[in-house]
Amino acid sequence: MSGGMLEDAAKQFDQVAERLKLDPGLQKRLRHPHRALVVSVPVAMDDGRTEIFEGFRVQHDNALGPTKGGIRYHPDVSLEEVTALAMLMTWKCALMGLPYGGAKGGVRCEPRTLSRRELERLTRRYTAEIFLIIGPEHDIPAPDMGTDEQVMAWMMDTYSMQRGMTSPGVVTGKPILLGGSRGRREATGRGVYTIVLETAKKIGFDPKRMTVAVQGFGNVGSVAAQLLAENGCRVIAVSDSKGGIYNPKGLDVPRLLRERLAGGILPDYGDADRISQAELLALECDVLIPAALGGQITAANAPTVRARIIAEGANGPTTPEADQILREQKVLVLPDILANAGGVTVSYFEWVQDLQFYFWTEQEINTRLTEIMTAAFTRVWGYAQAEGVDLRTAALMLAAQRVAEAHRLRGLYP
Ligand code: NAD
Repeated sequence: MSGGMLEDAAKQFDQVAERLKLDPGLQKRLRHPHRALVVSVPVAMDDGRTEIFEGFRVQHDNALGPTKGGIRYHPDVSLEEVTALAMLMTWKCALMGLPYGGAKGGVRCEPRTLSRRELERLTRRYTAEIFLIIGPEHDIPAPDMGTDEQVMAWMMDTYSMQRGMTSPGVVTGKPILLGGSRGRREATGRGVYTIVLETAKKIGFDPKRMTVAVQGFGNVGSVAAQLLAENGCRVIAVSDSKGGIYNPKGLDVPRLLRERLAGGILPDYGDADRISQAELLALECDVLIPAALGGQITAANAPTVRARIIAEGANGPTTPEADQILREQKVLVLPDILANAGGVTVSYFEWVQDLQFYFWTEQEINTRLTEIMTAAFTRVWGYAQAEGVDLRTAALMLAAQRVAEAHRLRGLYP
């Protein structure tokens, strides 16, 4: 995602703020993050050199509660990107009715080139540098691109060592043994699946006859594909960073998952044609699920999209210019802050369980997740109909209203 992402996020918010006639002072306030920390992360590399990495933690707004958001390890991480993603988290948490503000963090690095020991040292030093502003009641990180359960375990341990006590509530997305939640790994994909099915009901599509294409066969994309396939949908194409595969009769998703577990790569899957990323995005299908990187559907390729519905599994996969083109083409876009909010919702469940030291069954988690996703979908759909706006605008309006109301009730300190 580009540095322009922050400008896009702010522009999008301005449009919504004007529609809502928000107080101009509050609008100005919400355009800027509440707090942004830039840290230098020195790491002793395995070959004896000291390498300096740049790290960030941005808390966009905390009117509704402690801030929440993932930690990204990627070469493109910048203050602008982290700030834009933190703002997106504010809207996502508010839309879902979670008692959280929005935050995001990251370290500019290529995690694939670091050894496990280097990754651990980087994580521990980064955590120590942001220690002052995180905590179970302050700001709760989670995994994002390039980070995983193990990174969260190191973050939790580092924070706990500094505090002299074990504090599982400081991060979510931990291993289950350390206070992680059942169902967290599948939560985002499950949320995408729930939102797609709810949409199908509204527009009279029979899920058993729906065709689906998925860009990105990672955590989000593979679970969404699996659940949709189990529900009778025909998954006709999937891709990962190595390329895509296509079979109009439908792919055998359980087999793809087994092969991936065994270390296979998608383009080697036998019973399908190889296709490029561009071809996948332009396939004729009912549902297209971008679940890889941001900025994938742009003004350049939006005119080629032939899907009826786009369900945004990734954060920010559609640029604002592409959004406009898709609206004109009557493509129904299910916005990221709704479609992929299953992850933060089960992260919230994880935090609640950690604070109570009492853990729920997977069935309880999935039932509560489905309830929250369905209720949010119903609110957004109804609001879009009532206001005559698209679903992204409706979702942002509902979220911004909630944040604005929290600010109004709290007042401006001092
Ligand atoms: P992941 O690393 O598990 O999977 C990403 C997948 O995308 C991999 O299969 C990778 O090979 C593929 N990919 C990378 N570059 C690609 C390209 N150019 N074309 C096609 N595929 C490509 O990541 P994830 O956790 O599934 O996250 C995917 C997206 O969803 C990200 O944008 C992330 O911010 C967003 N998201 C994730 C969660 C979550 O809980 N994991 C929650 C909300 C949003």
